[in-house]
Amino acid sequence: NVPALRVQAVEKYYGSRENVTRALDGISLDVAQGEFVAVMGPSGSGKTTLLNCISTIDRPSAGHILVDGQDVCGLRRGELARFRRERLGFVFQDANLLDTLTARENIALALTINHVAPREVSSRVEAVAARLQISEVLDKMPHEMSGGQRQRVACARAIVCDPALVLADEPTGALDSRNSRKLLECLTQMNEAGATIIMVTHDSFAASYAHRALFIKDGRLINELSRGAAPRGR
Ligand code: ADP
Ligand code: ADP
Repeated sequence: NVPALRVQAVEKYYGSRENVTRALDGISLDVAQGEFVAVMGPSGSGKTTLLNCISTIDRPSAGHILVDGQDVCGLRRGELARFRRERLGFVFQDANLLDTLTARENIALALTINHVAPREVSSRVEAVAARLQISEVLDKMPHEMSGGQRQRVACARAIVCDPALVLADEPTGALDSRNSRKLLECLTQMNEAGATIIMVTHDSFAASYAHRALFIKDGRLINELSRGAAPRGR
């Protein structure tokens, strides 16, 4: 069985030869299809760099990253845009909705740019909205919604195309505890519907929704904790 994600001896350096920052220092990990994984660690430990390398926004200095067995580091520029659009879903700390479009239009746009037939678009938008309990806000503009509703609309947009991998960077960072809980329930729903999720978070409550938490420090994987299991040192 091919893992959803394989990170193989990835290193990432920033800066010049004289003044190098080793943001990732030999990270290897596998994420199985359908897994929900939290990535934790102190500020500056390399979490965002790792996520950016997985999402092909950034390129590792060494090592390989395979999504569904495909080495994404070898993709050319034109293929990269397509890979991100078709295979990945993104959830950020800020919902990043287009504020001149309704919730429905924001979600539909993800389908339209992936060339989904127009007659299928509205039924797919409504199905994902029902699942994430945002049907009642579909015709609202972002400024008419609460922060929590906007964030759930962003989740719907991230998964409406059935991406292989959902990448979430501090998705609860701007939410109060009630909305955090709702968002985490959304992510769990997405996961139960088949999405593999990788979530960077500082928040151990958020991490408790994951099957497994990975701890990164100084660009290295130092520990991991599986739900219901004792910590495993590395
Ligand atoms: P903070 O939220 O204070 O910034 P950190 O980012 O340092 O916390 O760590 C996030 C969470 O990960 C904390 O709950 C911390 O206890 C836990 N953690 C960090 N490193 C390890 C480790 N090596 N093993 C187990 N848990 C860890
Ligand atoms: P985290 O997300 O865990 O807070 P980051 O991945 O943002 O950590 O950063 C890891 C290290 O790499 C830090 O020392 C940071 O200063 C450095 N870094 C991140 N991005 C850049 C960049 N574009 N240029 C130079 N250094 C960077």
